[in-house]
Amino acid sequence: MPLTAQHAQAGVLDATVDPLGEGTSWETIHRARPRAPLTCRECGHGLHPKLSPKGLRFFAHDRAAPTCSLVGETMAHRLLKLQLASAIREAGWYAELEVAGDGWRADVLATSPDGARRMAWEAQLAQITVDELRQRTSRMQASEVPVCWVTDDDRPWIGAVPAIQITVPAEPGPADAQIVNGAAVFRESWCPRRRCENDGGAPGPCPGHGWWGPVPEAVNLETFVAGVLAGTIRIHQVAVRKYLRLPTAARTVWTTRQHVITERAQMEASARRRERDELAAAEHERHLAAIAAKLARQQALTPPAVDLVGREARGYVGVRDATPEWAMGVPLFVHDMPQGVISPVVSRVSAEVLARFRGLTLFVATEAERRALARACEPAQRIVLFEVEVPAQPRPPAVTYGRAGRVR
Ligand SMILES: [Zn+2]
Ligand SMILES: [Zn+2]
Repeated sequence: MPLTAQHAQAGVLDATVDPLGEGTSWETIHRARPRAPLTCRECGHGLHPKLSPKGLRFFAHDRAAPTCSLVGETMAHRLLKLQLASAIREAGWYAELEVAGDGWRADVLATSPDGARRMAWEAQLAQITVDELRQRTSRMQASEVPVCWVTDDDRPWIGAVPAIQITVPAEPGPADAQIVNGAAVFRESWCPRRRCENDGGAPGPCPGHGWWGPVPEAVNLETFVAGVLAGTIRIHQVAVRKYLRLPTAARTVWTTRQHVITERAQMEASARRRERDELAAAEHERHLAAIAAKLARQQALTPPAVDLVGREARGYVGVRDATPEWAMGVPLFVHDMPQGVISPVVSRVSAEVLARFRGLTLFVATEAERRALARACEPAQRIVLFEVEVPAQPRPPAVTYGRAGRVR
């Protein structure tokens, strides 16, 4: 039971407007004698004007109608089409009902005032598969007619194709239908602190914890249609699946530019955070490598250093653990007296350490190390350079530095 009819002389009549068409009012055709020459635009069968119990005007097929897709339309479907058409007209666009296109038929076809843009609005109240809707969506897109599927129920294809779910008003009247699903906003969430507790307490800039959620304040159908036609509300593919907190898991949502920008800001913040974490990891790697190199140097220097200290101090050389006390160098003891320190860390040579170094021999493996250490020490500090071969892969320190000394 369609909302439009073909009139033999007046052309297409639209029951949702006044007049219905070229100089034809509802009064001149409703219950007219003789009856108006009206046929179905879909099947060609005869139609007659009819009023629903609640006052909605429509056209009904005459008896013995053939199979026609418009016959099965329910009152709710007609009401929704009417609602869509009036929202489109309210927005200043033209609305045509039941328009056939290239392999598709639009329930309501919206055309911009300048005629340059078209968009279909489909009242899809019956069950339909996601695949079929995708096909119908792409057929319309091929004709450069974007589409929005409108339903009154929780359907699996909301979010899979451009669609909205609304609350359908009980009777015709002012557009009070509300959008309940299909539209979304990006809820920003940034941490004011540098160390973000929501992110495992890791230091650094907050990667953001925003998400796509339902529109907090109900939007009515008229506002939504006007926004879409004006281009302020657009279809958007949610970029990151884990940002989704919507009734459906699918990623196609209607939203405004502002929310797309906010989503992008969070993606960029996350990327910056990832970069920073990677840098920190690389920094840590380098630090570990520096420690390993220091251990390798100390390990290679130990035999000649022990040899020299043993000869000069004439006694048992104890090789003790590298500690901050010795600027992480390996101290050598004879008769419980420190005699030398192998490869201390220059940056850890404090005034206190310097005092401890006085009179001792420091051992280094390279000229660069000698120079750096000499700069940190007093001029009288004795530094011995042994050009030992430092293995690239040092043995584990536990093996290198036992507490056991060496007897000469
Ligand atoms: Zn028909
Ligand atoms: Zn945070």
